[in-house]
Amino acid sequence: MDKRMLVIGGGIGGLAAALACARAGVAVELLERASEFTEVGAGVQLGPNVVKLLDAWGLRDALSAVAAFPERLQVRSASTGAELGMLRLGGRMVQTYGARYATVHRADLQTLLLTAVQREAGVQLHLNSEFDRFEQNDAGVRVHTTAGHELQADLLLGADGLWSRVRQRLLNDGAPVATGKLAYRAMVVQRMLPQHLRSNQVTVWLGPQLHVVQYPVRGGEWLNVVVIVHGQVQRDIASWDHRANAGAVRHSLKQSCVPLQDLVQLIGHWRLWGLSIRPPMRGPLEQAQGRVALLGDAAHPMVPFLAQGAGMAIEDAQALAQALAGAGSDVPTALQNYASVRWQRNARVQAGALRNGEIFHATGLVRWGRDTAMKMLGERLLDLPWLYNGPA
Ligand SMILES: Cc1cc2nc3c(=O)[nH]c(=O)nc-3n(C[C@H](O)[C@H](O)[C@H](O)COP(=O)(O)OP(=O)(O)OC[C@H]3O[C@@H](n4cnc5c(N)ncnc54)[C@H](O)[C@@H]3O)c2cc1C
Repeated sequence: MDKRMLVIGGGIGGLAAALACARAGVAVELLERASEFTEVGAGVQLGPNVVKLLDAWGLRDALSAVAAFPERLQVRSASTGAELGMLRLGGRMVQTYGARYATVHRADLQTLLLTAVQREAGVQLHLNSEFDRFEQNDAGVRVHTTAGHELQADLLLGADGLWSRVRQRLLNDGAPVATGKLAYRAMVVQRMLPQHLRSNQVTVWLGPQLHVVQYPVRGGEWLNVVVIVHGQVQRDIASWDHRANAGAVRHSLKQSCVPLQDLVQLIGHWRLWGLSIRPPMRGPLEQAQGRVALLGDAAHPMVPFLAQGAGMAIEDAQALAQALAGAGSDVPTALQNYASVRWQRNARVQAGALRNGEIFHATGLVRWGRDTAMKMLGERLLDLPWLYNGPA
């Protein structure tokens, strides 16, 4: 192992980077400020571009044991319940893109990455370790924790999420901004639901100024439900996760079709996220400078309307490992290469997700045009070859 890397953050992005880079021969120390590796009770969708990487990392069986693999994605009107469009997932994704489309509980994804990382001899994990600041020079990078510890390495990776302190120290470009959209998230055991509300597909319900996404996780035993509406979080915006009032969710959907109202009536516990973002990346220097690189939400936070935030973090991890594997001792050049292969794709996904937010929540004529286009173009509109094929 000729290079030493410090990773800040043990979320999905940090763990994916630790795994991929350790396997590329890098000695990794990961610092996580929390006292244990935990993820909130919510789901993530993983397109074939991401599942392909997890398969290649030897995690296919582990993913199969915990995920669901829906057969289709259906778009419905939240107002009338009518089908607006449909995309075949299942076997069609395997045929077209070479991997499955998965939906998984975030904690399950984090656990399977953590288990794989713990098997790597070249990785050390430190909990209760909060990054404070760094200095870099020609010889390396020195990191200071808030408890006063110092660590030395050849490179530093900031995988510390939306409110990244590594980013602040590197770019000093201010805080993320609130989008004015809120995400209410819930998990419900499917057998507690009446038969007509159970579901093994991805359903996206589009309504004026709102949308709802539901999909199975944990092999289909649980249903993950996300309701996105317009509004502001009243409390600490930097804290992702708030206990939410079920009445507020029901109120938001009071004009919706009966099945959607029935579903939210049966869910008692919701968590609330205020969605904050940064504008799409403008160049490679936003992803790496010198011996310091950013990955995942620290580099390119996005609204979740393309369902690819964790996906882009995992793609970043693979690209970083490849850049470091072929690099010799010239770490800054390796990180420049990493940034130059990643930033445009990340920016495209950030911009596409923002655009989807406008389209999903459209009203009036735009809404009519959207629904008509979806009826006429069907799968051609919903399929995303540039995304699902993975990076060039
Ligand atoms: C409503 C919603 C739905 C979503 N749906 C999807 C989806 O379907 N598909 C998808 O791919 N993505 C989805 N995402 C996005 C996805 O969840 C994120 O992009 C992804 O989890 C980011 O991972 P990360 O590792 O970069 O950051 P995080 O998960 O935020 O991890 C950062 C880690 O760093 C630690 N940390 C922070 N500061 C410090 C410090 N100073 N020192 C040490 N440690 C620190 C934190 O404790 C945390 O463990 C969704 C997001 C939302 C909000």
